[in-house]
Amino acid sequence: MTARLHEISKARSFAGGVSVRIVRAGWFRPDAGGFFGVVPKPLWSRHVEADERGRILCRLNLLLVEAGGKRILIETGTGTRMSDKDREIKGVEGGDPAEALRAVGEDPDTIDFVVLTHLHYDHAGGMLDKAGRPAFRNARHVVQRDEAEAAHGDELRLQGIMEVEQLDAIRAAGLLAEVSGEVELVPGVRVLRTGGHTRGSQAVQLGIDRPGGRGGDPTERAILWGDLIPTRWQIPVRWTSAYDDYPIDAIEVRNELIARAAREGWWCYFTHDPGEMPIRIEATDRGGYRAAE
Ligand SMILES: [Zn+2]
Repeated sequence: MTARLHEISKARSFAGGVSVRIVRAGWFRPDAGGFFGVVPKPLWSRHVEADERGRILCRLNLLLVEAGGKRILIETGTGTRMSDKDREIKGVEGGDPAEALRAVGEDPDTIDFVVLTHLHYDHAGGMLDKAGRPAFRNARHVVQRDEAEAAHGDELRLQGIMEVEQLDAIRAAGLLAEVSGEVELVPGVRVLRTGGHTRGSQAVQLGIDRPGGRGGDPTERAILWGDLIPTRWQIPVRWTSAYDDYPIDAIEVRNELIARAAREGWWCYFTHDPGEMPIRIEATDRGGYRAAE
């Protein structure tokens, strides 16, 4: 492995003065069969190779966004509260969001908002530190209300899957901000409920909606997809994952948003992609979509 555990990218600006950097907070290795769901191996293995245990090497990417005078962290990685056995099975290296920020010279106490795309372990596992205290003690933690409700629900599939304890600790500390649907946190940073992957999954749109713009200002927009599209390999609309709780919804919303992303030229960030980002999506001449290279 040549890449370092923790890295930060150069800042990239989007419409309305929204600055975005990628904080690479370590690695994990999800099971390829689960990750690609119904997609046959001869198709997905054109993009990525599995290890001897059938796992693929993915990144734990966070986004550090500055907009409207606020600092926003999107995603929190796995954190450090997993058991050693679980870390070993899932091939986690690093994963601590506060440590990743400090390693690249950023202070976790300066974060005003933490956005969780959903409450799975590899996105919401880092809300608390090792001692069980909020890792971002000055931040409001933004979660869709129906995601928080699903975490507390009685659906058997979700038992032990959602980060309920961490969610409750954040709520008890007065740091939870439950939102519903599409909500602008600051000008140019908007969460968008997508569902599909989990009941209350959300994506994050970056950059204000301003076609044209004034001289020199960037006019482009971006999106962080959460696990609705975890990497560039899953851009084909029907390439859903076995981890999607609502695959039919996922395909419908992917179909709508991927078409918009291609048409409007949105720059794309992915939580688990190990490659260079952001990238754009382009339509193929066969009616599908792919990563623009
Ligand atoms: Zn994930």
